[in-house]
Parts: sequence; structure tokens; C-alpha cells
Amino acid sequence: MKPVVIAVAITGSVPRKTDNPAVPTTPSEQIESTHAAYEAGATLVHIHVRNDDETPSSDPARFAAVQEGVRRHCPGMIIQFSTGGRGRDQAARGSSLDLAPDMASLSTGSVNFPTIVYENAPGLVIDLATRMQQHNVRPEIEVFDLSHLHGARRLVDSGLMDDRPHVQFVMGVQNAMPAEERLLDILYGEMRLLLPHATWTAAGIGRNQAVVMDWALARGADGVRTGLEDNVRTSRDRLAASNAELVGLAAEAVQRHGRRVATPAEARAALGLRP
Ligand code: ZN
Repeated sequence: MKPVVIAVAITGSVPRKTDNPAVPTTPSEQIESTHAAYEAGATLVHIHVRNDDETPSSDPARFAAVQEGVRRHCPGMIIQFSTGGRGRDQAARGSSLDLAPDMASLSTGSVNFPTIVYENAPGLVIDLATRMQQHNVRPEIEVFDLSHLHGARRLVDSGLMDDRPHVQFVMGVQNAMPAEERLLDILYGEMRLLLPHATWTAAGIGRNQAVVMDWALARGADGVRTGLEDNVRTSRDRLAASNAELVGLAAEAVQRHGRRVATPAEARAALGLRP
């Protein structure tokens, strides 16, 4: 069986520090938290940055600081910037792509979130995909709805993306797609038709994290995702101590499914990234 890429989403854009003080928000906290997660087996880090008041930031200097620290302390780890929209000026969402991270998240359509519309208008999607292509940044397609797979296929057809993107199914966001195993089967089947060469992973939000991970591993996913962005608890009654603790639980799930955790070199090869 192919080794499994563990992605860690260290921070997110919702002000979670109030929910769990272990959420890293300054660049130095983020680098330290990523390093501990790397030691625990994570080979991909998904990064949002924050302003000093902990609101979401698009400041390229902050992205650069985290990228530099992770490159220095976590050799080979895949660096993925979020281009997600919550709390950020739409026009600034792609402003850090010229730092040429290995990857960036790309949402190919809009969807309702708990209290807002997560807006990804067609023009914005094309603009972000164009910038990613210009800077040789591999996209991770964030699928919050079935139509987003078709949005990804349109980018391939228009030459803005190669035909083997990394696809992430996001389940359990309130007002978006529920975490239901039958829905993962539908999404997976549609992906295999539209993007037969894609690699894939799945993220379960909140208390859905562990069960979505199990469904993905049972279906031979290339990766799993964990981290305090998605889930601040290890169980109903206990806060996670760190991103590294959540990565440790993911590594246990990988082993339970008879698979092993990818090394950084294996993770890069699996996702089509330069060594
Ligand atoms: Zn994110």
C-alpha cells in the first residue's frame, strides 16, 4: 500500500485561541507547533496567518516568516498556504502566492459556512489558479460541494491546471456538506470520472475528524488531514494539547489501517512536487 501523507492544519482562520489556547497564532508559535507536528509524522503543513490582534491576515511578510522557519526546521516538509476567504479581503487572498510555496489551497466554488457565504466567484477562482500556475504552486482543490469537482475539471480543460491536482473533500462544516460516508462514496466516484489522475485526501471538521479519516483510509486515500484548524478536541471532553498530539492520533489511525506514514520525500513524490 502507498504511504500516507499526513497534513496538519495548524491554525485556521476562526479565532480558536479562545476555544483552545494551544492554537498557534504568531509566526514563532506556528513554526514551533509545525516542528513538533513534523516530528510526530506530518509531512504537509497548511498555513493561515494572523494579525497581532489574531484576526486573519493576508500579510505576505507573515507568510514568508512562517515559510522560512518551516523550511529551516522541517526539512522536506510540504508548505501549503491557504487562499481561503474567511475574514480576508478578497483581492488579497492570492497576495502571498509569489512567495512560491509548494502548494496552496484553492476553492473552486462558493458554499454556505456557519454564519457567512464562503464566496469564490468564478473570476476569483480563475485569478487564483492563474497566479498558482505562474509561480509553479500546486493546487489543493478544496471540495465543499460536488459542483466544486466540476469547477476543478473546468480549470484543467482551460489549461490553468494540470490533470493531477490534489483534491481534499471537506465534510462536516455546518451548513455545507455533512459528514456522511455515502456522500464520500459519491464524491470519490465523481472525482475518479472527472479527474482520474488526481491524488486525494479528506478533512472532517470538529468531532467528525476521526471518522472521516477512517473512511478515507479505508478507501485508499493518499493523505489524511488533522490539526487544530479543524478540531480543537481529541474527544468530547478534552482539548487537544497540541497539533502534534492530533498528528500522533492520525499516525495511529494510519497504522490501524495497515498502512504507514509517508516520509517527506515520499510525500513530495506522491503529490508530484520537486524533491
Ligand atoms: Zn484552512
